[in-house]
Amino acid sequence: MRFSEIIGQERAKSILLGSIKANRIPHSMLFSGISGTGKKSIAKALAMLLNCLDPKGEESCGVCKYCKQLLSGNFPDFIIISNKTKLSKISIDQIREVYKRVSFSPYAKYRVIVIDQAENMTEEAANSFLKLLEEPPDRNIFILNVKEPMDLLPTIVSRCQNIKFYPIPSDKIAEWLVKNKSLDKDTAIFLAKISGGSIGRALELLESDYLKKREEWISLLVKLPLFSMNRLISVLENQLLEQKEDIMDILATWGSWLRDILVIKETDEKALLINRDLTYIAEKIKGRYETEELLNAISNIQEAEKAIQKNRNVGLVLRNTLMSLYKMQREGK
Ligand SMILES: [Zn+2]
Repeated sequence: MRFSEIIGQERAKSILLGSIKANRIPHSMLFSGISGTGKKSIAKALAMLLNCLDPKGEESCGVCKYCKQLLSGNFPDFIIISNKTKLSKISIDQIREVYKRVSFSPYAKYRVIVIDQAENMTEEAANSFLKLLEEPPDRNIFILNVKEPMDLLPTIVSRCQNIKFYPIPSDKIAEWLVKNKSLDKDTAIFLAKISGGSIGRALELLESDYLKKREEWISLLVKLPLFSMNRLISVLENQLLEQKEDIMDILATWGSWLRDILVIKETDEKALLINRDLTYIAEKIKGRYETEELLNAISNIQEAEKAIQKNRNVGLVLRNTLMSLYKMQREGK
């Protein structure tokens, strides 16, 4: 990974390149911001540039021994520490491993150690790591990746240079998806828009069956007015409640879809649409709704999202939301 290949994050790049130029690389840094915005990639680009045997100005060469090792994941001194499973924490044993590693001199020029999702460190691990930052061993660079610095010990934060990572503009994510994942433009724009500025999230959605499910969820809303009450209840019980774990995605999809219909009805500005690939369906059915109905439905969905976050009964929330959407679509039609 080279600096020029990283999308967005111009500010982070220029801070880092500036400090390399001035030969004042901080020994500990905090990369903060939502995940999937290039924190690990920049850490790797930094490790590459610092160790490259033949850097060209602000770029690593990409072909020397160390660059190649970094690119293939075989450079021994680019170390990423993270929690082993989604629910586990970064343990003190993992920090002890770091102590062991830094007791040897770096293999090349610099060792770069990334603590990924550092907010997952146990208290013990965090305290032990703090001691490392208090007396940082030479030619070792520590990078803590974190969503929000407030989730770390203030004593850790104060020892790091904080570099902020911003959500990546959706047109840049879309462009990247078209180029690197050979997606058609409309699908790329859709994924980019719902990714919230995170390439990681866009990729996750692409690799899951989200796109297929989204079409099912939207098509359900489109067909809703045709359903009898019996059919509605059967869809709820046999289809939606089976996908309980997807409830936030279902609600977000419905919200984005109703918002799209509102946009197309009120402004006809297709560039503002989220589900761009399904514009033709939105066009066809926009006449079914009054503006106020759409606004109400969108706010119902937002309420449902809040209710789920407050741990309300998922089945009940889903049932009430579906019923209110059903009623809206049937009224006066
Ligand atoms: Zn190189």
